[in-house]
Amino acid sequence: MGITNVSVLPGCISCRNCESVCPAIFKVDPTSRVINRDYLPHAKEIFKAERLCPVNVIKVETTGNREPESEMAKGEAATLEKKAFLTRDVVELRFRTKGFSFLPGQYVSLSFRDAQGSFRRSYSIVSGDGSGFVLAVKLLSSGRGSKALQKLKVGDLVEYFGGMGHFVLRDSPTHKVFVATGTGLAPMMAMLAATPDSVPQTVIFGARTEGDLFYLERLRKIKNAKVIVTLSQPGAKWKGAAGRVTDHLGIVTPQSEVYVCGNPDMVESVKKALHDAGHDSGLVFAEEFVAQGSTASDAEKSRGTLSFLKRIVLDGEIPGLVIATVQWTFIAFAFAVPFLWGFFPKLRTELWSVSWISVVALMAVRPLADIFPKISLFRALIPLRQWLGILSASVVVTNLGFTAWNSWDSLVSSYLSARGWRVSSRALFARVSEITAVLLLVTSNAWSQRTLRANWKRLQRLSYAYFFSAGIILHWYGQTSALYAMVAIAALWIAAEITKKVRARGASSK
Ligand SMILES: Cc1cc2nc3c(=O)[nH]c(=O)nc-3n(C[C@H](O)[C@H](O)[C@H](O)COP(=O)(O)OP(=O)(O)OC[C@H]3O[C@@H](n4cnc5c(N)ncnc54)[C@H](O)[C@@H]3O)c2cc1C
Ligand code: SF4
Repeated sequence: MGITNVSVLPGCISCRNCESVCPAIFKVDPTSRVINRDYLPHAKEIFKAERLCPVNVIKVETTGNREPESEMAKGEAATLEKKAFLTRDVVELRFRTKGFSFLPGQYVSLSFRDAQGSFRRSYSIVSGDGSGFVLAVKLLSSGRGSKALQKLKVGDLVEYFGGMGHFVLRDSPTHKVFVATGTGLAPMMAMLAATPDSVPQTVIFGARTEGDLFYLERLRKIKNAKVIVTLSQPGAKWKGAAGRVTDHLGIVTPQSEVYVCGNPDMVESVKKALHDAGHDSGLVFAEEFVAQGSTASDAEKSRGTLSFLKRIVLDGEIPGLVIATVQWTFIAFAFAVPFLWGFFPKLRTELWSVSWISVVALMAVRPLADIFPKISLFRALIPLRQWLGILSASVVVTNLGFTAWNSWDSLVSSYLSARGWRVSSRALFARVSEITAVLLLVTSNAWSQRTLRANWKRLQRLSYAYFFSAGIILHWYGQTSALYAMVAIAALWIAAEITKKVRARGASSK
């Protein structure tokens, strides 16, 4: 299995896990991007980064089936020891582990499995020690992770990664302000516990109603901490503060370190309010609870022909069964080629066309995916290139085999004598698709890429150069249709390179 493409989708929260795990491929500046396309030597780290990304925005595309999960980065086992509701929808979960370490503010990533397959969700650590960790999670009625946690019973095992993340407490004596809404309070509890009593602290904890509050007793017991609990929809009996957390930022002094955690809108509005007030952005640290998946109801909403087509074309969601069927059709066809060639000689011209079209399609998919990144269908088709190459090579090898069988001399002379190239443009046409197909085949599979290391790219570029120059030569011999195909491919590759450069410049100027 080879990696054909790695991309970072929108939504990166700059946690830098990917950069820590695989600095050769990922750079976070200010959000993560892929800086190197030489994936092979870093395959293991890339898969690990994909698994550790808390918001699942790293997309790794591979040729063939993915390795079983057991072969990839593996987490640790945690046993659910205690489950208790803190409010009607916030549950506290205590997990027992064999050894555990974390920095206050970090999170764990839990792996779950349901009917749609395995998936992960991140949860901040409320507290932890060598024997386990505690989480506080808001359960959403239609959330995938929420449903998995709802089903989890005391004694059940779950796989986890962590603690991880760069939202951690700074070791300084400066006044610290902790701003949280809802379960955004979870990492703050660990940070508050780790802040020395001598350090002045302020907690601004926001919720909608009184019924959404939790951990109030614990907050009130913290020495040297001013606690502001504010409700956006206070009841008649509420005696505490009212309004949003942003209404209480007056407590922040120019030297204060501000830690913000909760839903992305709240985090953004706190950052903006602090920025507008002239607060040093280097003293603001934030964690956004970005949603990492969609719900069954989201999927249900998007039923219907149009949305089905949209999901296939724009989201590249081709059902696995379709991909498998196409792959097996290509393989079956590749095996059938020698029989068709031998028993139906009249079909040979058509078989050459199949080989030729396969090579052209193989070369077009990658630039199309680069030029139209929003049409994920092109990216989803990238793995099919290998099978197109196999099909094309099958025609090439069959032809070589039959020619050699009939007359070894004619095979050698058709390749080595200049006469063969000059006399028949058709022979040259055949050679172009053969040589290009063989070069592409040699350079497109994971084994040869590993063996050839950086040279596989050079060899592949050579095949394109050969393809284009042969197209021009063919033109002299009247094979204009081949030239059109080659010009179209060349235009696509040039457009793809320009698009990538423009996009990279746009990203770096942001
Ligand atoms: C670094 C990090 C740390 C996190 N720590 C915690 C934590 O300590 N406690 C905690 O409860 N969550 C935390 N989260 C959020 C958590 O990982 C899940 O995203 C959240 O629990 C929803 O997951 P789900 O699978 O139940 O819902 P999904 O199936 O992912 O989404 C369900 C639907 O609800 C929407 N949605 C997602 N989150 C919310 C929300 N908060 N309110 C309303 N609608 C929502 C989604 O857009 C989607 O439409 C953290 C997220 C990150 C990235
Ligand atoms: S791991 Fe994911 S969220 Fe974190 S920096 Fe990398 S891409 Fe962004």
